[in-house]
Amino acid sequence: VQTTPDLSATARPAAARGCPVCGSSDERRVLAEARIDPAQLDAFAFASRKVPEHMHHRLVECPVCDTVYASPLPDAAEVAEGYAEAAYDSREEAVAASRTYARLLHRIPDRRRAAALDIGAGDGAFLERLLEQGYEQVAGFEPSRAAADAALPDVRPLIRLEPFTAGAWPDESLDLVTCFQTLEHVFDPLELCRQARRLLRPGGALLVVTHDRRAATARMMGKRSPIFDIEHLQLFSQRSLAALLARAGLTSIQVWPIVNRYPVHYWAKLAPVPRSAKPRLLAGLKAARIGYAPVPLRAGNIAGLAIRPDVARGSDAA
Ligand SMILES: [Zn+2]
Repeated sequence: VQTTPDLSATARPAAARGCPVCGSSDERRVLAEARIDPAQLDAFAFASRKVPEHMHHRLVECPVCDTVYASPLPDAAEVAEGYAEAAYDSREEAVAASRTYARLLHRIPDRRRAAALDIGAGDGAFLERLLEQGYEQVAGFEPSRAAADAALPDVRPLIRLEPFTAGAWPDESLDLVTCFQTLEHVFDPLELCRQARRLLRPGGALLVVTHDRRAATARMMGKRSPIFDIEHLQLFSQRSLAALLARAGLTSIQVWPIVNRYPVHYWAKLAPVPRSAKPRLLAGLKAARIGYAPVPLRAGNIAGLAIRPDVARGSDAA
């Protein structure tokens, strides 16, 4: 694996990006130079919950709001193509994750359940949970065909095979917008949250989950952590996630660390063991019953919950 900076595969040596949360242009804190091996960029590089490759863009830390972000940005068209063609192999893990996220819903103060939208819906596992919880109308946006086509037959028609964009849904029509493990992948996370606010009725809730780059697990693993990943265009901490939700014009913001429950074999896939030893380890665990036992761990993810206020506030709240 090459360790010298190489931006050729991901970006033109373009202008600095600026912080995607607060807009600061101070890019003096370079957290890591790019680490990219084009030979390893196979179809699975853009699939979620895959074996980590330890490749990443050049990462800059914002001194104002604590967000870490890729700068310069990779080419948008190449990234979009990557997601559209991404392979998909993680139905079991998606269901486990959806159960973790469903346990967060009780935090929402106003639990009206007429309509909910999931951005980055994957195989629709969380749409199943929303229907179980009594939401009457649910829908999802997902750019990857392989993921959407892995949905259950009665859930698949609820998933729009496209990235979430402005104007894709009627304003003020939703009680809940969710976005799990997706904010780190999109080109403009602030615009995504602002659009989500527009779609919510006053009092409606935005619920997000993302990696916490300052979690103990991430600090322990350093640059071997799965958060240092070619897919990630920004990384949040509790502070920067709260800043993102506030700048999007949302209120009553809560951010807290969550406990994920995944099968043993999934945790083993993420563990920092040598790549050459992983296939045998994973095969062994999948052959044994213990490999499927659900294990709760604080794995370095944070949830953010915020409410659309009654009255739009500030100049950015249009
Ligand atoms: Zn910032």
